[in-house]
Order: sequence, then C-alpha cells, then structure tokens
Amino acid sequence: MKGLVLDADWEPREGYLLSDFERQTGKAITGSSVWRNPKLAVQEVEKPTPGPDQVVLGVKSCGVCGSDIHFYETDEEGYILYPGLTKFPTILGHEFSGVVEEVGSQVRDLVPGEMVTAEEMIWCGYCTACRNGFPNHCENLEEIGFTIPGAFAEYIAIDAKYCWKINDLVDIFGSEEKAYEVGALTEPTCVSYNAIFERAEGFRPGAYVTIFGTGPIGLAAVGLAEAAGAGKIIAFEISPQRRELAKKVGADYVYDPQEVTPSEVIMDLTGGRGADMHVEAAGVPHLTVPEMEKSLAINGKIVQIGRAAQRVPLYLETFQVRRSQFYGAQGHSGHGNFPNVIRLVASGRLDLSPIITARYDLDSAVEAIAQSGERRDGKIMVKM
Ligand SMILES: [Zn+2]
Ligand SMILES: [Zn+2]
Repeated sequence: MKGLVLDADWEPREGYLLSDFERQTGKAITGSSVWRNPKLAVQEVEKPTPGPDQVVLGVKSCGVCGSDIHFYETDEEGYILYPGLTKFPTILGHEFSGVVEEVGSQVRDLVPGEMVTAEEMIWCGYCTACRNGFPNHCENLEEIGFTIPGAFAEYIAIDAKYCWKINDLVDIFGSEEKAYEVGALTEPTCVSYNAIFERAEGFRPGAYVTIFGTGPIGLAAVGLAEAAGAGKIIAFEISPQRRELAKKVGADYVYDPQEVTPSEVIMDLTGGRGADMHVEAAGVPHLTVPEMEKSLAINGKIVQIGRAAQRVPLYLETFQVRRSQFYGAQGHSGHGNFPNVIRLVASGRLDLSPIITARYDLDSAVEAIAQSGERRDGKIMVKM
C-alpha cells in the first residue's frame, strides 16, 4: 500500500542530554532537539494486518494538522519544529476516518463495512494517570502519526477500543463521502471540546465567549461555543480567510488583532462586563493572555489550548479580584468527548464542514502539507 512516510536523522543538538527512555525506545521527548533533515515522501509500505484486538481500516479522509506542518518545516539548523514525542520513520496523519475492512479475533463491537473515526492518543489504560481517569496524560503514551504509523495511508491498524462509529453522520450529510470528511474533523473538534467543557467545565448559555486564533482548533471552538448557546462569540485572527471562516461557523464578531486592542473591543462588546470564557487557540499566549486578563468577567475563565514553549507573565491580583481561573488543556480522549462531539454533529447542531477548504489525493499529500504551511486555509483534507 501507499503511505506518507516521514524520516529524519537522529542527531541530538549539542547540549541536549538524551534520557535513558529516549536511548532505549528511540523516541525523542523533545522532537525539535533531536530530529534533523526531515524527508517526506509517499512510498510503498507494507499493508498492516490486525492483531487480535485490532481492526484494519481503509482510510477515507485524513486532515492535515498544525503538527504535520511542524514536521515539514525546519529551523535554520535543519531541525524539525515539532517539540513533542516522536519516533521516525513513521507514517504521518492522525485526524482520520475510514471503513472497517478487517477485524481481529477478539473484536466484538465492530464489523467490516462500519464507518469509524478514532482517537490519536494511544493511552495505555494501566498507568496511574489512566487508572485515575486522565487518559490525556497517560505515562506510556503512543501517538498515531507521531510515534506509530498514521493515516496518510491506504490502510491503518488500530485497537478497536480507540474507534468510534460515525455511521449516523450519513443521514445528516447525505453521502458517505461527506460523512467521512466531516468524521475526520472529530479529533481536532474533541481537542476544543475537551478544553472548553471538560477542563474548563464549560459556560452557561448566554455567556460571553472569546476565541483567540481561528485555525482549525479555534474554528472548532467557535462552532462548539455556538452550539452550546454562547450569548456573544468574539474572535481574533490575523488571516482574512480564517476570519471569514470564523463568521461562517458562528462567530458574531471577528477582528484582526493587529488592527484593534482585543481587551478594549471585548470590554466594549460586553458592556464593561468582560468575557466569561476566553479560549487561547493561537499559540501565542505572551500576546493573547495579557489581553484576556484585562477583559475577564467576574468568575471568568481562560483556557489554554495553543502550545508555546515560553513563560507568560500573569498579574495574579486580577485572578483574585475577578474570581477567575486559568486552565491548561491537552488532548481529546476520555470524558465523553468523542461520543458527545459525534452526537452533536449528527444532530445538525454543529456543522464544521465549511472549514474544509482544500482537498488532495494521497499521491499529493506532500503538497497538502506544504499548502497548510501557508496558514490561511481552514482544514485541508487528504482523501484516499
Ligand atoms: Zn492534530
Ligand atoms: Zn496510561
């Protein structure tokens, strides 16, 4: 079968001390300090067969994620930009949907022909974090498309317990093809759902919500805020194309943060009350969080989804006087996230299909990632 394989040289930067874990497993904890000279190509690879608890999916759609871009782009010394857990060579791609083609001997609730999407985080279920109900913080994590083969490929093998059925999406979207595309948006949507509703414990209908950064994760946050009954949704985004998409999926007001002072706009639009929930999906908290802090409602919340390896000053007095909270969020697994998002989409109350702005076939997957690097599309889909 064909798959989009990323390979790179294992060349730890001068001064980066490899841990025993990294030496033993060949997995880099800080990928951007270890992997150099990435090479990305569609290649012929072996078709997987299912283990006893696994299914093999015929992949139908797989979205390009910001992290895929960070594998492709390098710094001036040739190191990948992605700072997380990685093991190469591997097949990229982790936001996918597909049809069950083969099932292992122990699989009970999936049969060939069913339509599914899947989690990307392969939580172990045994470590203390997993056993305490925190799969997004698994201590033995594998990640599809980061440390094990991903879904920019014709087929993928995955344990059945990470799969979620999306058969119900066909009725609302009218065709299997559309249902597979929208189904492949489930994973990034669950990242936003987990942040807003699980980590930050949601907001009351009618609340004022802001979204900083409307790339795919921020766009999903806008759609979710609309579906959950926000009173006003105010978004900030530097790309004009993405500002248009934010309006399409439910933002009431969208601004270029280079042209306005976000905190002033928010205080104005909320009659001086401030926002009940601020969502950071821009990955530039040193710029966004100070603006959020100046426009926090009493009992307001800030939830951080964007990743950034930097310190951000906080004026904690504000958090005391405004009775405010700051939440860090990562991941998409557990807590009802996948089934709830799929139900919401199947109900017609959450339609993120407008954010899919480009489609490529598997042979052109490298071009898909290159276009994504221009950061003006919503979601780019690779279709098998
Ligand atoms: Zn992703
Ligand atoms: Zn675990």
